Amino acid sequence: MNEKLVSIAIGATALIGLFFSRKKCSLCNKSHFGCTSCFVCNELVCKYCGKDISSLGFCCKSHGDIDSALINEKSVKVFSENYKGKIAPYKISKTIHTSYYRNKDNAEYALRFIAAINDANIVQEVKFTKKTENDNNYKYSVWSGNGRI
Ligand SMILES: [Zn+2]
Ligand SMILES: [Zn+2]
Repeated sequence: MNEKLVSIAIGATALIGLFFSRKKCSLCNKSHFGCTSCFVCNELVCKYCGKDISSLGFCCKSHGDIDSALINEKSVKVFSENYKGKIAPYKISKTIHTSYYRNKDNAEYALRFIAAINDANIVQEVKFTKKTENDNNYKYSVWSGNGRI
């Protein structure tokens, strides 16, 4: 076999392996196709234990009232780490951070949603981290956000 055929064979095996590997949902411990990472806690969740919210993916039902958080997210205020003005004290004094998203707005949305699900309406000291991903020599930027609630 020449080198190219070998690499094709390895690629196909990896693909088949990926297709048949069933990941276990961290909440119900059952194996399903398509378990995906909860964007709040990053644990794997299935569609039965998670709720699909927009392009961000799933959020575990265990985090609380997702429907209320979807509404309350809109009133969450985000303050950059450079903001010098006076802000209300932290609600629970906890650092939150998001996964990486192709769109910076998604990272900000995730921050507001995570705040809302924690009953906070302000995210302070917000900072975005940019990273470059490489997919077959195609380079693109991804963004993650973090802040304090
Ligand atoms: Zn599950
Ligand atoms: Zn979760």
